[in-house]
Amino acid sequence: MNRPPGGPRTSVPVQPGTWLTLTTKKPFIPKGTPMPLEAGLLEILACPACHAPLREENATEETPELVCEGASCGLAYPVRDDIPVLLVDEARRPA
Ligand SMILES: [Zn+2]
Repeated sequence: MNRPPGGPRTSVPVQPGTWLTLTTKKPFIPKGTPMPLEAGLLEILACPACHAPLREENATEETPELVCEGASCGLAYPVRDDIPVLLVDEARRPA
């Protein structure tokens, strides 16, 4: 793996940890800081597709989801290891 010094790193994968696509009303939370999914967290999360608020929904015990409350959106984002994966590509579309 040769990387030119100071050159752009073009092969960095997009991490699911980049879920903080957020409004700016709360302090910045550094990426890579795993945080438990707490009630307060939901207040700062927004749907990356339409920026509507999200609500937590436990479809089953094992696969909680964050469901967009946008009327015309309704995407359901998976929560993996207590980390919400707010990626449109990973979201489940409403039936
Ligand atoms: Zn949405």
